[in-house]
Parts: sequence; C-alpha cells; structure tokens
Amino acid sequence: MSTEAAILRAIFDRRGDDTPRLAYADFLDDHADRYPLPAEARQRATLIRLQCEADRLDGPAPDCPNYLGHLPCECAACRRYQAVRELWEQARAVLSEARGGETNADRWAGPARGVAQVGPGSYRRGFVHNLTVRPDLWERHAAALLAGLPLEWVWLTWWPRDMTGWVADPGGLPEWVTWLDPSDGLREQLHRCERWPGVLFSLPHPTQTYGR
Ligand SMILES: [Zn+2]
Repeated sequence: MSTEAAILRAIFDRRGDDTPRLAYADFLDDHADRYPLPAEARQRATLIRLQCEADRLDGPAPDCPNYLGHLPCECAACRRYQAVRELWEQARAVLSEARGGETNADRWAGPARGVAQVGPGSYRRGFVHNLTVRPDLWERHAAALLAGLPLEWVWLTWWPRDMTGWVADPGGLPEWVTWLDPSDGLREQLHRCERWPGVLFSLPHPTQTYGR
C-alpha cells in the first residue's frame, strides 16, 4: 500500500481523529510536485488545515459575559467565535475557487462528482462530510461513495415514483429506518439505516416523489 493510500485508510478508520487528516495535508504539501496540478494539491492541504482548526475551536464555549444582542466584544468567547468564522470563510474561498469551469468543491468530491450535489457546505475537516442525492442514485452509487468519501450525513431528496428495489412501500419506512431520539433537537429529523449503518440520513416525506 502506498503512503498516500495508508494515510487515506487511516482517515476512514479514525473518522473523529484529525491526526491522519493533518498528516495527509503534510503529504500533499511535501509531494505537491508529483500531482498534475501542484497548486491544487497545496490548496487541498490548506483546506484540510483550515477546517480542522475551525472544527477544533468550534466546540462548546462559555457565553459572552457582555452579550446585549449587539456587536461582539473583546471577550474570549467573542474572539473565538470570530476566529472560527474567519477560518470558515477562508475555507469557503478555497472551495469556491474555480478551475476549468469547476469549483474546487466539485473537483475534490471524488465519486460524488456528477452523482450528488456537493458544495462548500458539504466539506468538514477537509473532506466531503455530507451530500445531497436522489435516493435511487444513492442506492446505485452508495458503495463507491462510501468507499471514496468519509461521509457522515446524506440528505436524500425526492423518492422515485417507482420505488421498486428501493423502498417498495413508504408505509414500510419505519421497518427500514430507526427514528433517533426526538428530544435530540436537530437529529429529530435524521435516520439510520441497517444497510448503511455508518451514515445519518435526512429522508424526504413519503409523499414527495418525482418521475413517472
Ligand atoms: Zn463577548
């Protein structure tokens, strides 16, 4: 296994750990000249570092002691909030940069290119973390998407009208997925599926269909 493959493997095996991601950033910088576009390899390294740092800083924070609903002050909470925002803005600028009619967000989406919707908001800690895709395309490409991207969330759009091979009966949905704890705020709307246990899904309403 090549060094690059070994680092990518470690990123998949240790999803919550920034160490292999930052090792990949170093690898990209050290070997940028071996890539077809060295500048792009260095940008990719920059993105990984920016987003890992933003994520590290963006944990639970004490509230601003001076908060009065106006501009941020000089307290530690406000300074940290501002630092995270700047890191995310820099990361967004890297992802939005276009080359040959495609943004970096498109170019770095691997197996999701042409299959799913991926934008700057799809990236976290330097890699595609979530994407939006039609259920039938997800089913067809899930193996490749999961093998090539450290995905955590999948936003499914409309159900195909012909659900054969996917979910034959929307009424059967509760058998297929498990509702997460509805008291858990945001995750109220997210589901898991036995077929793809590592991913959280946002599902369309059973009546939302497209096609024939
Ligand atoms: Zn403050």
